Amino acid sequence: MHLKTLTVRGFKSFASATTFEFEPGVTAVVGPNGSGKSNVVDALAWVMGEQGAKTLRGGKMEDVIFAGTSGRAPLGRAHVSLTIDNGDGALPIDYAEVTISRTLFRSGGSEYAINGNSCRLLDIQELLSDSGLGREMHVIVGQGQLDRILHATPEDRRGFIEEAAGVLKHRRRREKTVRK
Ligand code: ATP
Ligand code: MG
Repeated sequence: MHLKTLTVRGFKSFASATTFEFEPGVTAVVGPNGSGKSNVVDALAWVMGEQGAKTLRGGKMEDVIFAGTSGRAPLGRAHVSLTIDNGDGALPIDYAEVTISRTLFRSGGSEYAINGNSCRLLDIQELLSDSGLGREMHVIVGQGQLDRILHATPEDRRGFIEEAAGVLKHRRRREKTVRK
């Protein structure tokens, strides 16, 4: 499994449709401060289902929509789509290529789709959850986040490891059952 293309339109600093193509292996994004490198990573997290405005470095979810510049009016929606090569079947869906997309309207509504079919956020999160991507992912390490991990309490550090190993969801499910 690897990420193939990411298309952003109206997302943060990307007013016009912009497509990034990734090859298998390592991709480096370089550019001056403030040029939008971290916004590319935010777009990846967002399309994979990130719900925390703070994780996306904003105050509220609407902040991901292009807010306008001196030369360009604000936009009414943000759209991101991500195509994943699923040739190895890592995602539990019968397609060699999977495109997930997310749209947020300034008026408040959201739309999600898997291979062009409308779905719920939960469907995207479930599709990605066993691949190590998706909800509460630690596959994206943001600027400054390494410090957070290094200074974490032993309990929090255990959480990171359990999440990475895919056992956290089983522990949560167990705790829920025991409480009942
Ligand atoms: P650094 O090297 O400092 O980490 P960077 O390349 O990672 O910089 P980003 O943080 O990705 O830069 O981009 C910041 C830019 O994105 C700022 O100029 C900010 O104004 C712009 N930006 C963020 N959100 C929006 C938005 N909703 N609408 C328009 N521009 C936005
Ligand atoms: Mg940055």
